[in-house]
Amino acid sequence: MNIVSIIVPCYNEEESIGYFYKAICEIEEKLEDAQLELVFVDDGSKDNTYDKLCELHESDKRVKCISFSRNFGKEAAIFSGLRAGEGDCFVVMDADLQHPPETIIEMYDCWKQGYEVVEGIKKSRGKESGLHKWFAGMFYDIISSATHMDMRNSSDFKLMDKKVVKELCSLTEKNTFFRALAYWVGFKSTSVSYEVCERVAGTTKWSYWKLGKYAIRNITSFTNVPLQIISILGIIFLIIGAILGIDAIVSVARGLAVGGYPTLLLLIVISTGAIMLSLGIIGVYISKIYDEIKNRPQYIIRDSKK
Ligand code: UDP
Ligand code: MG
Repeated sequence: MNIVSIIVPCYNEEESIGYFYKAICEIEEKLEDAQLELVFVDDGSKDNTYDKLCELHESDKRVKCISFSRNFGKEAAIFSGLRAGEGDCFVVMDADLQHPPETIIEMYDCWKQGYEVVEGIKKSRGKESGLHKWFAGMFYDIISSATHMDMRNSSDFKLMDKKVVKELCSLTEKNTFFRALAYWVGFKSTSVSYEVCERVAGTTKWSYWKLGKYAIRNITSFTNVPLQIISILGIIFLIIGAILGIDAIVSVARGLAVGGYPTLLLLIVISTGAIMLSLGIIGVYISKIYDEIKNRPQYIIRDSKK
């Protein structure tokens, strides 16, 4: 009998957990040669999520739960769950049933065929506003070129063999991006597609501000291209400067007046903008180094039931 560990990050999911548990139990009945282990990680919820999880643990010994001392974010919750699971393979999925549990059956079959990573690929991105779609599209274009993999419709919904999980858990970085790291570790992979469902209850935890921070954090943890762009910007400014300088010298030699105030103003504004932007980009990388060097844990566990 194989054990499939289901890792579920939960933040203020008291309304969803009941539905999720019911749906996942139905899946176990369909997996003939597998038993489930459910690892719920309460990411510092402000509602009664953890109480609900403890109730489940009392009534069902397959349920393990972990509670963080505060909200550390979904990434931290995923990694903590992966470290706590003891299965032969691991499935990471959301608590709100947006990742359809039936897909696990297909993923499990792929794993039995020898695939070590089975990616859940979204058939479409579900209901999102135009701005959200545009923003997400831009983010995935950048991240896909940084990782050299098409991540446009990828998600955190994945099945991984225990040896893949072991490698992921041995990474020491704190600024993790699970979705891309699961590609980065390599291994034999395939994908299954799924339709993103409506959230079963509650609301999304993402604001545009949170999404923006998430995008910058993940782009800078996977690529140094923004730093290289600064050098390219420097070269472009140098060339523009040289052309304008030569033009000024030629004009003076010809006895013509050199273009004055507007040109100067424009140049100062553009170059100051470029310098500030460059400093900002360098700042992001320095702050990441600062965060990593402090070596604080990615999360702190307040309580757990195993
Ligand atoms: N989540 C979490 N910590 C957070 C935010 C979200 O553990 O700080 C969990 C949440 O409970 C859910 C999953 O991550 O199980 C996806 O979150 P959500 O549904 O809000 O995101 P969306 O589906 O809208 O991208
Ligand atoms: Mg969701």
